[in-house]
Amino acid sequence: MANVQFNSIFKRYGQVEVLSDVGIDIKDGEFVVLVGPSGCGKSTLLRMLAGLETVTAGTIAIGQRDVTHLPPRERDVAMVFQNYALYPHMTVADNIAFPLRMMGFAKSHIRDQVTRAAEMLGLMPYLARFPRELSGGQRQRVAMGRAVVREPDVFLFDEPLSNLDASLRVKMRGEIKQMHQRLGTTMIYVTHDQVEAMTLGDRIVVLRSGRVEQIGTPLELYNKPVNSFVAQFIGSPAMNIFEARPAADRGLAIEDMLLTDLFPLPHPLPENPLLVGIRPHDIELTPAKTSDALSGVVVLVEEMGNMSLLTVQSGSSYVQVEAPSPSSLATGAPVFMRPMKEKLHFFTE
Ligand code: ADP
Repeated sequence: MANVQFNSIFKRYGQVEVLSDVGIDIKDGEFVVLVGPSGCGKSTLLRMLAGLETVTAGTIAIGQRDVTHLPPRERDVAMVFQNYALYPHMTVADNIAFPLRMMGFAKSHIRDQVTRAAEMLGLMPYLARFPRELSGGQRQRVAMGRAVVREPDVFLFDEPLSNLDASLRVKMRGEIKQMHQRLGTTMIYVTHDQVEAMTLGDRIVVLRSGRVEQIGTPLELYNKPVNSFVAQFIGSPAMNIFEARPAADRGLAIEDMLLTDLFPLPHPLPENPLLVGIRPHDIELTPAKTSDALSGVVVLVEEMGNMSLLTVQSGSSYVQVEAPSPSSLATGAPVFMRPMKEKLHFFTE
């Protein structure tokens, strides 16, 4: 059990800076998800914590120990990879036991630990099989078992579910969450999938281009995103964002309506173009035009089962709106939209 601190971390590959001044304070027992688009530096950060990458500047601490320059084996972390990294010529039991054998533990201890991990992960019936005789989900469980037996201070997960199909991914996500609840060990999890981030994390760190954009609980990020990037990255379907620069010649474009007719804007206006955000389920569709409704035309209907996602063109803007399923509106239908005033978000970047 341990807390983890990244203190002002920088990483450069040659001239290219891939992490810039990253500071993250992770509490003992916390489940923290690092999320962001591909290439934003998530894996590099995790690999630095594991000791698989050097740190250009800054320090990393696990518990009270500065581990910045320690070799991987002295860090007491266990990492689960996307590609499982199992030994094909070893049985499930031997794969799980491997790290303990390397550490020179007694046979009886190894047997107990393998049984404990296999019971927890539902692997008891498969102990004698080889990786090639397992499904993708079972292989990923073996990879987790190999991490669990070591009883590390911190578990690291690098996109562990990316190779699984959608339904199995949801199931394994639940299993990882339960594993955290059972073990109570600090876990740090890298993904580019915001749904995984939202469902797994006690807190989420949103990264973009090597910088931390925001750190918060899933609901903090959802309800109070600090900028339009976080706003659009967290939540599905994504938040509608409009640039709200007053422009007289744009007719009834939604940007101008939001600005001028319907909603109070912060005063004084920031210098940057002001961005206005509204989530698709915070817009009501009204059958008739009212003074605070925006008119538009449905250009796309996507049935999601639990709701319909409509894309509505209003002036030069496209707005996504959630409506009950099945949609009573077809492509080409005129609609009126009423964004809920209290659900608007204002951003300067
Ligand atoms: P993510 O995990 O968010 O997809 P990575 O941490 O893998 O991102 O990579 C961050 C950036 O660092 C990317 O632009 C990637 O191309 C670059 N990068 C990663 N490893 C190396 C390396 N060994 N040499 C040069 N550039 C690298």
